[in-house]
Amino acid sequence: MDGTGLPEIRSTCPYCGVGCGVLLRPDGQGGMEVKGDPAHPANRGKLCSKGSQLGQTLGLDDRLMSPRIGARSAGWDEALDLVAERFGDTIAKHGPDSVALYVSGQLLTEDYYVANKLAKGYFGTANIDTNSRLCMASTVAGHKRAFGTDTVPGTYDDLEEADLIVLTGSNLAWCHPVLYQRIIAARKKRGTKLVVIDPRRTASCDGADLHLAVAPGGDVALFNGLLNEVSLRGKIDHAFAENVTGLEEALVSAAGDDLSATGLGEAELRAFFDLWCGTEKVVTVFSQGVNQSTSGTDKVNAILNCHLATGRIGRVGMGPFSVTGQPNAMGGREVGGLANMLTCHLDLENAEHRATVQDFWTSPEMPEAAGLKAVDMFRAVGEGNIKALWIIHTNPAVSMPDADRVRDAIAGCDFVVVSDVTDRTDTARLADVLLPAAAWGEKSGTVTNSDRTISRQRAALPPPGEARPDWEIIAEVGRRMGWGAAFDFQSPAEIFREYAALSGLAARFGRDFDISALAELSDAEYDALAPVRWPVSATRSGGRFFGDGRFFTPDGKARMVPVSHRAPVSGLSDARPFRFNTGRVRDQWHTMTRTAKSPRLSAHLPEPFLEIHPKDARALGLKPAALVRVANDHGAAILRALVTDAVRPGQVFAPMHWTGETAPSARVDALVPGHVDPVSGQPESKAATVSVEPF
Ligand code: SF4
Repeated sequence: MDGTGLPEIRSTCPYCGVGCGVLLRPDGQGGMEVKGDPAHPANRGKLCSKGSQLGQTLGLDDRLMSPRIGARSAGWDEALDLVAERFGDTIAKHGPDSVALYVSGQLLTEDYYVANKLAKGYFGTANIDTNSRLCMASTVAGHKRAFGTDTVPGTYDDLEEADLIVLTGSNLAWCHPVLYQRIIAARKKRGTKLVVIDPRRTASCDGADLHLAVAPGGDVALFNGLLNEVSLRGKIDHAFAENVTGLEEALVSAAGDDLSATGLGEAELRAFFDLWCGTEKVVTVFSQGVNQSTSGTDKVNAILNCHLATGRIGRVGMGPFSVTGQPNAMGGREVGGLANMLTCHLDLENAEHRATVQDFWTSPEMPEAAGLKAVDMFRAVGEGNIKALWIIHTNPAVSMPDADRVRDAIAGCDFVVVSDVTDRTDTARLADVLLPAAAWGEKSGTVTNSDRTISRQRAALPPPGEARPDWEIIAEVGRRMGWGAAFDFQSPAEIFREYAALSGLAARFGRDFDISALAELSDAEYDALAPVRWPVSATRSGGRFFGDGRFFTPDGKARMVPVSHRAPVSGLSDARPFRFNTGRVRDQWHTMTRTAKSPRLSAHLPEPFLEIHPKDARALGLKPAALVRVANDHGAAILRALVTDAVRPGQVFAPMHWTGETAPSARVDALVPGHVDPVSGQPESKAATVSVEPF
């Protein structure tokens, strides 16, 4: 209860990986007041512009209220029977790998768990991937190479204990605002130095001591240069290095790399190296600018190498720190929602791990190898090899690279099911069956934020019409396909208990993810669950990993991975002379299905644009606010020129939010080729090449 005597419901914000706690107070008329939760450890009562406007985004005018088959409304029974029948028939006729699920970091952990169990445990395919593939798959791969598991070593508190914070490929001020505010507050208090590494001058640079406008793709060379300096200056922590293998090989690679690939001057490099080498408490925060690259995994390992060589990991105020874009990207990683993972951080390709999960799930068959990652999955859809596709809470016809081809592939697929809260997305319009899902504020479950804190999302409003929670929809399909016992879930609490119990078995393999102490929660205890950082077991709780020098590899040692600079795959040419960067703006979220409902958020940057340097604008004869056509072999977009020296000459930037629904000429992911990192499968969303001309 608050001071007014009305009940307040604790939940979490649905937007970003900071995972801020919110207090919801329904007004009894379908709306609610949303405030920051002072008791939540991620935000301590603060919210950013998006979180504080959540109450403006609850309108029902675009909501999908009942199932649809083609253009007509259908009952749940008819729609679910059809989904079960078509997936069953396709598997029977063409094998398990002829079907796929493409899911989302918008799913709650319980939804994700059931979807993963259905695909990997019962369909018998690992063709389940998530839009997190576009977000942080390179971090997952880099963590696994270095640590043996996908483990975020530190906590948000480290950002307030550090003396130097390096933001790499992260516009934290706009994309994770509450975390950025925590850094700025700590900076005022303790004088924390702040370095921003980004080809663009972003809002995060406003409060920085140093902005390094690194050349696109130059991060490996930069962190290799740093590792080399660490070595030359005698800053290797040889005692900690006892816990590490590959140091010599990584140093040789680092020494041989070419610093000119950074595009930075000697004075800038010197200033960065001096700060990093001269400060013990360093946190390197990294995000999509690192991950969304064909060398994304190497970039992650280049960063981890510097922290491992200096022992600056797992200790107060130190460590590499990946921040995730979506509210539950971490939960998705934990349940094994990626095509190459198994639940509870187990490995799909490890026979013992697989057998443990199969036994626990009593599943008829399990895939033995990784499934198709997002880009390959939609290629297989286009080639007709995937014949039944279920897309849940995401809009790949807009957000995937090569978006026009992906849209065409979905349109040509034999059978497409879309679960979403609205029918007004580019992807929903291509569905054979549309299933109305409960939205944020109407559903219950858990999410995990970027520092491993599990928080409850709680329903404060009833789902409108016939909308249902995702776990319930997915479990219904499982039951109708004949797997009643495995999918006989009655509540998210029941799913969570099963998942937590499985994590206890996983931990026996020496894995990091363990929430087995939560496996016996009663329904009431689950409902009241306060934010808790994993691990949560009889022997371990919360805190940092790796301070003790023990890692999750077979020999317990971390791996330093020798890496070398590789340029982005798309080459510049006379025909495509501009490097094309994409990203977010402060007040929009993904493809705007929620944030566009808020007049206040939409007023910030109301239309799609292309940032272009004044020199380039002059050379093209562009006046400020002129329309430009941006094009390459993959697609084209019409955008308004925003002439600014925030981008370097030869580079342009466009936000990725607008869709065929909101601005049909501004589908910028149509311009992004499907080039992927060879290890993580993450696409290179920030380094296409394009032509720009007046429109
Ligand atoms: Fe929501 Fe992220 Fe803003 Fe927090 S920082 S209120 S989680 S969008």
